[in-house]
Amino acid sequence: MDMEFAVDGMLGKLARWLRMLGYDTKYFNNMDDDEILKVASEEKRILLTRDYQFFRKASTHGVRAIFIEGRTHAERLAELSRQLNIRLEIDINMSRCPKCNTRIRQANKEEVKDRVPKSTYNLYDEFWVCPRCNQVYWKGSHWKKINNTLNHARQINSGK
Ligand SMILES: [Zn+2]
Repeated sequence: MDMEFAVDGMLGKLARWLRMLGYDTKYFNNMDDDEILKVASEEKRILLTRDYQFFRKASTHGVRAIFIEGRTHAERLAELSRQLNIRLEIDINMSRCPKCNTRIRQANKEEVKDRVPKSTYNLYDEFWVCPRCNQVYWKGSHWKKINNTLNHARQINSGK
């Protein structure tokens, strides 16, 4: 089974990245440390945090934790790839909704017709939807940026 993650309140963007990469990731905003540790422990999730005290505390509670030091998304993803060997490539058919962590599914073009801007509908042929929150996704202009960041992360790890 794939690794699953628990991400603390300071790393919301990283949670979105991990979901896009296909990893089941719970993100805890406004939850205290003990509650987060309880969930991570019960569900065998790897805790990701930027809080060194919390990182230490997790270890003493038997929760596997990674202390995230990188400043940019690329650095953080590179770091996780080095430590845990996470994928640094998105297979969108494996992706989870960045908003709600539900596995997204490919949609028929017709199905999203009234849910995306007309220009988008005309420009793209492939769409994905989240069955839970109904968000529609497509490989728009942001897709290039996403791949640039992942390329950069791979370059960091190959020492370029
Ligand atoms: Zn969703």
